[in-house]
Amino acid sequence: MDRRSFIKNTSLLALGTGAVACTPAYMKIAEKQLNIMNSSRYLPKLRVSLDRVIKQTVGLRPYRSLGPRIEKEELGNKTLIHNYGHGGSGWSLSWGSAELAADLVASSSTKKVAVIGSGVIGLTTARMLQFRGYEVSIYTKEMAPNITSSKATGTWSPSHRLIDEDQISPEFYNKFKQMHSTSFRTYQNLLGLGDYVVWSDTYTIRNEAPPKREQSPKPDADKYAFMNVLPGTIALKAKEHPFRAKYVNKGASMVFNIPSLLKLYTDDFLRFGGEIKIKEFKSLEEIDALAESCIVNCSGIGAKQLTNDKHLQPISGQLAFVIPQQQIHYCINTKEAYTINRKDGIIVGGTHKVGSWDTMPSKEDTEKMVLAIQKVADEMYS
Ligand SMILES: Cc1cc2nc3c(=O)[nH]c(=O)nc-3n(C[C@H](O)[C@H](O)[C@H](O)COP(=O)(O)OP(=O)(O)OC[C@H]3O[C@@H](n4cnc5c(N)ncnc54)[C@H](O)[C@@H]3O)c2cc1C
Repeated sequence: MDRRSFIKNTSLLALGTGAVACTPAYMKIAEKQLNIMNSSRYLPKLRVSLDRVIKQTVGLRPYRSLGPRIEKEELGNKTLIHNYGHGGSGWSLSWGSAELAADLVASSSTKKVAVIGSGVIGLTTARMLQFRGYEVSIYTKEMAPNITSSKATGTWSPSHRLIDEDQISPEFYNKFKQMHSTSFRTYQNLLGLGDYVVWSDTYTIRNEAPPKREQSPKPDADKYAFMNVLPGTIALKAKEHPFRAKYVNKGASMVFNIPSLLKLYTDDFLRFGGEIKIKEFKSLEEIDALAESCIVNCSGIGAKQLTNDKHLQPISGQLAFVIPQQQIHYCINTKEAYTINRKDGIIVGGTHKVGSWDTMPSKEDTEKMVLAIQKVADEMYS
């Protein structure tokens, strides 16, 4: 075929396909396919059952009734900066909290800092200090996966079990606002680097109308408008979803793939010259004996023993890990339990035991949560 006839033939072909694609029947099929792709009607079915549970954990949320303790204390000749007590929001607020702690470190003259703890708060604090040119050593009793941070669900939940509502002061409000905005921005910068952080649809499934509180705006909505960083929730009609429930809302969640993120933070910390030493401190005197003159205490619930903080107590939470399902890209939320879709499993959770130090998974709790989700899954498309 010479050049001229090639151009003529391919143009005709293009014209031809254009003509065919424009016929109403093809348009309708294409439109239907697009609608199916974008709709919630045909979600892949969840496979959740007790025989697919591969791991159970119980983590202790470090809940402090006054909110996280981010403050400076003089300890003998040392400067001790506390950064603990983030309740059910430690993952969400970690980067902003690290920023506040690093600002307090800036007031000491040293360039060598010790960080106690290698949970999400310790690691982000250590990285933040490295960003600012400090030489940092982490001292920790344990590392992932034997820490609370490894036993978290991993969603954006910046105000979950964070503070007693009647303890909210202007000082807390300002810190919270800063932690919220710095952390949210930092997580958006981690998007696209792999799947450390992902956005996911969440379906809230109820048989009775959601409580009033969820429907009406808060009285001080303007004051907390900065928290509106997630897209709005929409109520789905029965034919728009596969669940058998009267009320189904669709919203969005930001999900942290916890094992990958903890590894990323640890690897980055070591790559930038940080050192990690396994060491347990039994008292503040032992901390005082460290070579570094500035120490940041990121010991989570461990701070109870170290500082005897009467405002700090555990709120335990149990998770059941179900075999991961690669085709599932959504989370669900029922009255009894929720699922979060992560690379290391479909995480089923939903327990809060205030004051409980028990880290032994309970068979009954796993059964209750998993069976509640299994029921929703079994009823899909029925
Ligand atoms: C079930 C569950 C679900 C959760 N879901 C979410 C969620 O979806 N989103 C969210 O934002 N947050 C969530 N959280 C909360 C979050 O996990 C915590 O707020 C966060 O992990 C606290 O981090 P941390 O670094 O302070 O504590 P930890 O992870 O406990 O780290 C503390 C570190 O200090 C070390 N340490 C303690 N004591 C000593 C000592 N005496 N000497 C030396 N080292 C010591 C420990 O070994 C550890 O390395 C959840 C928590 C639970 C339990």
